[in-house]
Amino acid sequence: MNVSQVIDKLREWDIGIVRINEPLSKHTSFRIGGPATVYVQPGSEAHLVKVLNWMEENGIPYFILGQGTNILVSDQGVDAVVISTSRALREMRVEGLRMTAGTGILLTKLAHKARQAGLQGLEFAVSIPGTLGGALVMNAGAHGSEMVQVVESVKIWEPGSGLRILAASEAGFSYRKSSFMEKRWIALEASMLLRPGESELILNTMRQFMNYRKKTQPVGHANAGSVFKNPQPEFAGRLIEDIGAKGWRVGDAMVSPVHANFIVNGGRATARDVLSLMRRIRCHVFQRHSILLRPEVRWIGPREGGGDGTWENLWYGEGAGLKEPCE
Ligand SMILES: Cc1cc2nc3c(=O)[nH]c(=O)nc-3n(C[C@H](O)[C@H](O)[C@H](O)COP(=O)(O)OP(=O)(O)OC[C@H]3O[C@@H](n4cnc5c(N)ncnc54)[C@H](O)[C@@H]3O)c2cc1C
Repeated sequence: MNVSQVIDKLREWDIGIVRINEPLSKHTSFRIGGPATVYVQPGSEAHLVKVLNWMEENGIPYFILGQGTNILVSDQGVDAVVISTSRALREMRVEGLRMTAGTGILLTKLAHKARQAGLQGLEFAVSIPGTLGGALVMNAGAHGSEMVQVVESVKIWEPGSGLRILAASEAGFSYRKSSFMEKRWIALEASMLLRPGESELILNTMRQFMNYRKKTQPVGHANAGSVFKNPQPEFAGRLIEDIGAKGWRVGDAMVSPVHANFIVNGGRATARDVLSLMRRIRCHVFQRHSILLRPEVRWIGPREGGGDGTWENLWYGEGAGLKEPCE
């Protein structure tokens, strides 16, 4: 099936926004990324599932995009159908201590909704950008808490079997990791079990977290959060600071002078700039500390150094061939 047939079909169904060659730099917090061959924003869960079933049946490569706050998209773009969840999965309800939400909802919004309902447990999420879907996939966390502590179950779409409810214990949650990528599950809705709390106290905790972030992170500069995972019990930021990397630049990508584990885009940075900087950091940290940093930011695009950017060569991995410490 060629691209125009894919587009014709998506438009015929009238399921929502469909665009050709959409620059993904518009949809990532890094403000980096070449075009998606097809970009679609289904308007409802039913439409989203219809698209997923059809892509799967016809072997068409696709990629699910939340808010793009944890990805580095290739400068060549993504030769696939990029499906945004931001319009489709937006329902939210509270029943007793249980909160159920569509995975297209912003995590910040979810945290505030819980607070308004007098429920605690999601305070940590108040300043993590991105959608609930991205947070599940990444088992996002901050301030000593993470998604696994509140998630009870997830409604997923599974290639070949369709919809089902996944218990949290089946989701393979661990530090900034889950089984979603490996199993190619798409998260549609999640139920979270929270605890009763005092709305005012919850708000105070949230304010403390937000203030801490303002002081310790490069607010106002395009970035994708922590570039490397913490090699526990160490902190990636400390190791990177230790090699004197704050302020290092490649092109328009720079190691933030505020937080060494953040790379900021000065305005014209390319994915290649960011990857080169990541490689340099990794090499120096390895030489000094014998610790191999693993990327937290996900690389979206063809395998670096190989592949021609065609649909078959897409690789949604942990970091563009960053395997050897010093390549
Ligand atoms: C300034 C800043 C601060 C940050 N601070 C933190 C922090 O403190 N803690 C932390 O954990 N992270 C942090 N992050 C990273 C990021 O915000 C989280 O990982 C977030 O959960 C990603 O959500 P997203 O919607 O942007 O996902 P995206 O970046 O759009 O996608 C991430 C991955 O999830 C997949 N995905 C998205 N939605 C779905 C779905 N519904 N079903 C299946 N797969 C899906 C995508 O395919 C992709 O592989 C920060 C980022 C920034 C920019």
